[in-house]
Amino acid sequence: MSENNFETDAIRTQINRSEYLEHSAPIYLSSSFVFEDAEDMRASFAEEKERNLYSRFTNPNTSEFVEKICKMEGAEAGYAFATGMSAVFSTFAALLNSGDHIVSARSVFGSTHSLFTKFLPKWNIETSYFKVDEVATVEELIQPNTKILFAETPTNPAVDVLDLEFLGEVAKKHNLILIIDNCFATPYLQKPIDFGAHIVVHSATKLIDGQGRVLGGVTVGPADLIREIYLFSRNTGPALSPFNAWVLSKSLETLAVRVDRHCENALKVAEFLESHPQVNFVKYPFLKSHPQYEIAKKQMKKGGSIVAFEVKGGVEAGRKFLNAIKMCSLSANLGDTRTIVTHPASTTHSKLSEEDRMQVGISDGLVRVSVGLETVEDIIADLKQALA
Ligand SMILES: *Cc1c(COP(=O)(O)O)cnc(C)c1O
Repeated sequence: MSENNFETDAIRTQINRSEYLEHSAPIYLSSSFVFEDAEDMRASFAEEKERNLYSRFTNPNTSEFVEKICKMEGAEAGYAFATGMSAVFSTFAALLNSGDHIVSARSVFGSTHSLFTKFLPKWNIETSYFKVDEVATVEELIQPNTKILFAETPTNPAVDVLDLEFLGEVAKKHNLILIIDNCFATPYLQKPIDFGAHIVVHSATKLIDGQGRVLGGVTVGPADLIREIYLFSRNTGPALSPFNAWVLSKSLETLAVRVDRHCENALKVAEFLESHPQVNFVKYPFLKSHPQYEIAKKQMKKGGSIVAFEVKGGVEAGRKFLNAIKMCSLSANLGDTRTIVTHPASTTHSKLSEEDRMQVGISDGLVRVSVGLETVEDIIADLKQALA
């Protein structure tokens, strides 16, 4: 669990070798597993022994992936999901009862926002929101029925940073479960549990895969809470496929080196943008100009792979900039080897009113760049010609 062992854990955590003594873990594409006899079957179903029964419950590949994430995040236990959203949904659904209340940062991933506003209210679960620049108001939102405190940091797409230590203290004082979506930072850059978070959720689709291939998600935390999430999930069926778990476990072997390079490239891109006359401002956690630079330094090892900036000229300038991009991709994903550029005001967040967009820091000209692993001079050259 120590930071020193991060890369070793990511590479050397491996399910037991089979009789073939393979060096690299094979894929166990098997929906179910056999029992020795009736007694073995009975004892297995009674959970008297830890073993694989059926891949909706556990599978060797998903277990390997989960064990790695647990070590990286410093968590006791976890469960792997088919997507990041199934991890988020199942975590809330398993831990909440009708009538419970959530306090969340306003700026959360789009589908998580829909979960809070459109679906959880069907089961009488309401959410109150705090703004990233008004974190001090968190305590005012807490009600007697509040059970969960939720946030993502850095946020999408405005790249704001929330103070994990502060949220950890609030959660402790009010006996709330603090859940952090650590997708943007990855456990390599930030370990929310060290700052008082109970549960960490991930979309493994992003930097954990990092190569734009598979969808996946994972939730880790204390054994008792994960047990509830596991029981909910093994009955409702959002399990990660063994193939995707195998891909993701392989991906974790290179997470540290990939994320190091993502951060190195992103910082150079951020510095370039900050010096460009067509740019109003740049948001990158490790730029001194970032409003939460000190917090970012406290809780993150490096600045991450996402840079947000505002082009001069509003929505039209943002659209024109995207149309002028040559090499970088216009895509909805992020955390890929390929650099991806998006313009939230005309795409992902176009259905929000201007006022609602401003509430979460999405101005008309805001562009989000997920900086990839191409030669950084080529990334900068593309952005430069598009800005011109
Ligand atoms: C993408 C994303 C999700 C959802 O993950 P999927 O794998 O697409 O379901 C959740 N949270 C954040 C912060 C994300 O970026």
